[in-house]
Amino acid sequence: MSLKREISDQFFARASKVIPGGIYGHVAPAAGLPRFFPHYIKSATGCMFEDVDGNEWLDFMCGFGAILHGYSHPEIDAAADEQKKLGSVFNQPSPVMVDLAESLTSKIDFADWAVFAKNGSDLTTWATRVAREHTGKPYVVKAKGAYHGVDAWCDPGMGGKIEEDNSKILQFSWNDIDGLKSLIDSKKDQIACLILTPYHHAAFGPSVLPNENFWADVEYECCRNNIILILDDVRAGGRLNVGGSHKYFGFTPDLSVYSKGLGNGYAISACVGKEYLKDSSTEVFLTGSCWNDAVAMAASLKSLEISHSQKVANSVLSKGEYFTNSISEKAKENKLSFSLTGPPSMPYPWFEGDHNMFLIQKFCEIVSRKGVYFHPHHNWFISNAHEREDLDQAIDVAGESMKELVDLGFS
Ligand code: PMP
Repeated sequence: MSLKREISDQFFARASKVIPGGIYGHVAPAAGLPRFFPHYIKSATGCMFEDVDGNEWLDFMCGFGAILHGYSHPEIDAAADEQKKLGSVFNQPSPVMVDLAESLTSKIDFADWAVFAKNGSDLTTWATRVAREHTGKPYVVKAKGAYHGVDAWCDPGMGGKIEEDNSKILQFSWNDIDGLKSLIDSKKDQIACLILTPYHHAAFGPSVLPNENFWADVEYECCRNNIILILDDVRAGGRLNVGGSHKYFGFTPDLSVYSKGLGNGYAISACVGKEYLKDSSTEVFLTGSCWNDAVAMAASLKSLEISHSQKVANSVLSKGEYFTNSISEKAKENKLSFSLTGPPSMPYPWFEGDHNMFLIQKFCEIVSRKGVYFHPHHNWFISNAHEREDLDQAIDVAGESMKELVDLGFS
């Protein structure tokens, strides 16, 4: 099947004149988003979307994770619509902000308070500043290759940076506890915080789960050295455990940041923290043009309620398990060394030895011609709107595409 893309291309040509690069960020063609994906999307429901040329896609990216319950979820949209009747942004916050903070602090075991913003980056950066404020120490430790947002201290790009942006950022290799210890020793009493994702999901490479004692060792080192542990749960939050991904891996951070799954597509992020950091947190200025957006907060409140009442994290994990096991079977049948790495609700596809990513690009291209959207170099996302027949359809497409790949001479 060849996909129509005339209208997508027309929009892109118009965009190129008035928007730098036409499309920017991680979905920019310049950032390597393959040509076989449409540039523009018209609408989406459940786990399907329609692009501007009228092609229909069975989606496995969920708005890069922002959609946990499915696109255009009726109950969440209804909650947002109710709030919209009252208004969205006022001079002061709406009471729904208090409801949302109470909901988060009651649902996340270590959380005593919550603040809100619009994007993950807003609050990963803010959390490091809270840690610096509280400890009076300058250094931030992160894992090599980990993405925590667009701010200069963590953005992996090079543009517009100066040396000082990263001069207080230290990096160690994921799972390398000895490396972490020697880094800590090298900057004794100067490290404010360690910021980590719950497992390592660097772009352009397979995901890596924590080793058995990794989180216990991290907690111990943080505690021993008075280092604040920040969990960046922006991407995984809601897809591993309903109470936060620290519960899935069995540890307790001091601060946690959420965004993607939180508002089911309504722009919101949250940072929650322990009581002992509450005073310091009030010292780090936090505001924004639309950060009190009550519509996103009402949507988020409903989204959290559904996550709990429908045990959505367990549900997407078990859907993901069925999906990843079945695709692994197809790979075996076709004698391909292919694996879906990381937790099954957000698997990252990897052909062994495919370091230039040619094979995965080719595979996703063949899949795309059959109307299924698998990204070649980002983890995929399962939503709770993926039903068994959707998964079966994608599994069949994956199997047929692997066979085509082998028939073309790739292995
Ligand atoms: N942390 C992680 C782990 C992320 O995946 C992202 C977004 N991809 C961010 C932080 C930044 O979030 P945002 O794009 O909402 O600023």
